[in-house]
Amino acid sequence: MIDLHMHTHCSDGTLSPAQLVSLCVQMGFSAVAISDHDTVDGVKEAQLAAEGHGIQIIPAVELAAGGGREIHILGYFPDLDAGFVQEYLAEQRRKREKRGEEMVRRLQKEGLNIDLLGVRRHGGEKVLGRPHVAAELVALGYAADIANAFDKYLKPGRPGYVPRDNPPAGELVATVRDLGMIPVLAHGWLCGLMERELSQLITYLVSCGMRGLECYHSAYTVEVERFMLRRARDHGLLITGGSDFHGAHKPDILPGTGLENWKNAKDCLNSLIIERFRGDAR
Ligand code: AMP
Ligand code: FE
Ligand code: FE
Ligand code: ZN
Repeated sequence: MIDLHMHTHCSDGTLSPAQLVSLCVQMGFSAVAISDHDTVDGVKEAQLAAEGHGIQIIPAVELAAGGGREIHILGYFPDLDAGFVQEYLAEQRRKREKRGEEMVRRLQKEGLNIDLLGVRRHGGEKVLGRPHVAAELVALGYAADIANAFDKYLKPGRPGYVPRDNPPAGELVATVRDLGMIPVLAHGWLCGLMERELSQLITYLVSCGMRGLECYHSAYTVEVERFMLRRARDHGLLITGGSDFHGAHKPDILPGTGLENWKNAKDCLNSLIIERFRGDAR
């Protein structure tokens, strides 16, 4: 089994990289990607934990475009020791800090008794995100669970929502490529576009250097899988699949959830690995 999209407590997951690897080993995975938001800090710990267990750790990072839509790009095979990668990610994290403060301010203005210290109890020391705010909203009794906290306060259009001050999607794809990673559109179906618009977005992002599509995801139906697979075939794109595992922040999702139909995962991973070396040869 293979899962190419997972989060640890280095961003907004709840398991440590070592705990996640141990879970994946128990469940029988042969390869998993650690794809935290805006950090690669978890990758080395995961690789260390994986030694001798017959599981391959694929380095990755998930980045978000700016604007009103949730467009996320997975960058596969970042160079973990490259200063320019580290610097770029550090800048993203600094912007997250400011946004976190602004989210709390807005919620306070709504009359909620919440502060940043409380939010930090739920992690996010390095990569502060909405799930940490959501966890605090639940702890304080303002929401029934994380999903409810997003619905009431943290989704676009809700009082605590602060958009990310990030580059538009095309620019982000080009940047991910310039940073030496393979850009793949994560859960593209979830950015709220109709089929036609999503197809257009994909065509545009391919022109910016995007190389793959996440065609299997825990939130996808079979119809969505088919749609994404068609788009991947149209453009000759790499096909990936990921559960988007976050631990207790998304309790219904385990490693491998939603990937049942991904029969050729091994071939897809091989293509991704080959693409990496093609990139090196450029
Ligand atoms: P942020 O990176 O701070 O914008 O937060 C985005 C993260 O919040 C995503 O990666 C998911 O982990 C989580 N998320 C987004 N929407 C929801 C939702 N409706 N319910 C639960 N978690 C969500
Ligand atoms: Fe997340
Ligand atoms: Fe995402
Ligand atoms: Zn993710």
